Order: sequence, then C-alpha cells, then structure tokens
Amino acid sequence: MSFSSLGLSAPILQALTERGYLAPTPIQSAAIPPILRGGDVWASAQTGSGKTAAFVLPIIERLVTDGPRGRGRYVRALILVPTRELAAQIAGEIQDYSQHLAQDSALKTLVAVGGVSINPQMMALGGGADIIVATPGRLLDLIDHNSVSLSHVGTLVLDEADRLFALGFADELNRIIALLPARRQSLLFSATFPPAVWKLAENLLLNPTRIEM
Ligand code: AMP
Repeated sequence: MSFSSLGLSAPILQALTERGYLAPTPIQSAAIPPILRGGDVWASAQTGSGKTAAFVLPIIERLVTDGPRGRGRYVRALILVPTRELAAQIAGEIQDYSQHLAQDSALKTLVAVGGVSINPQMMALGGGADIIVATPGRLLDLIDHNSVSLSHVGTLVLDEADRLFALGFADELNRIIALLPARRQSLLFSATFPPAVWKLAENLLLNPTRIEM
C-alpha cells in the first residue's frame, strides 16, 4: 500500500516524502479512503498509530478539492481535542502537510485553546479560517463572543474522544454538536470506548466505517 494509491494528490505526497514516511500505517490505509469519500468513521486508535495523519491528510485533500468558494472565510473543518498540547501538535502537522499546496489553495488553520488570552484568538478568527483545532471550552467562549460561526463546518473530528469525556467536556461537546450543520461528515477517534463515547458515536455517526486497530 502506498500513499499515492490512497488518492492523495502531489503536494501532499511531496510533504509525506519529505517527512520520511515511506508507507501509510494500518490506520491510515483504513481511514483515508472512506474519509476522502466523505463518509463517517469510527476508529479505535491509540496514540502512536499514526491516527493524526489518518484524518488530517484526507481533510486537507477534501478542502483543497472543494474549490476556492468561501476559502479562508468559513470554518469548514473543526477538530476538537482534549488538551492544548494535542491541538498544537495537530495544527503543526496540518501546516507541515499543507506546505506545498499551490498559493490559491493555501489553507488557514487556527488553534483555539484555553489557558491563554482569548483576545489574539478573537482577532485571528476575525480574518476567517478554513480549519479550527480547538478545546471545547474555549471554542464555546469564542462562539459566545460571536468570533466564530460553525454554520459551514463540513467535517467534524473528535480526537481522543475518551479523554474529552474523562476531562468532563460532555456538556460542551453536546452544545457544540448542536450548532453544527446536520449534513456533515463526522469522524470519531478514541483509544477506548466507554459507554459515554459509545453513546456519542451512536448519536453522531451515520453508517460509519468502523476501524479497530
Ligand atoms: P500519532 O499516532 O498521530 O500521534 O503519530 C505517531 C507518530 O508516528 C508521529 O510521530 C508521526 O509523525 C509518525 N507517523 C505517522 N504516520 C507515519 C507514517 N506513515 N510513517 C512513519 N511515521 C509516521
């Protein structure tokens, strides 16, 4: 299995080569094709499996092929994570994998996390963004300040969903999900599936591809 056979285009393949990735990991092989097709995914995946690239690569590909309409103005992909460290790591991977995109395909990614001043995040969001990587509490603060709208989100990712619940974000998650368009792609990644995550998966996902690593 090669990255090119998974349907990723040249600028992304170049970034992968430069990173020294020779082949997709099992979760990448299993998750990238259904995500590229726009389907929902339910993946049980540990840190270290390559799960970040498994959703980041097809999201970038889809946003680029989506055409320039609304580019940079509307948030089209929302990635919710339990911690700021994870948010920063994912945003860094997005930048890295996007670096060779043509200028007119460039994607703007913003990180919205707690524990730091909200004002710079509000200012940055004023200019629009294609992708937001956020922790739930800070995202809701920004929504309450009218700094971000979720009305154009086409893809939602819940990463490390079990940790989101363990850290007590259940109410925040439900509020955020209620603000999303009904027609969207939802991707759920979790190391474990305790009852709360199971229930969320059942409510959130439509005919998901199930991947267990
Ligand atoms: P993750 O599970 O997303 O935290 O990734 C674990 C580590 O594997 C990270 O350091 C990635 O950079 C690395 N990685 C992800 N995909 C690949 C791949 N296809 N080949 C080699 N390393 C990878």
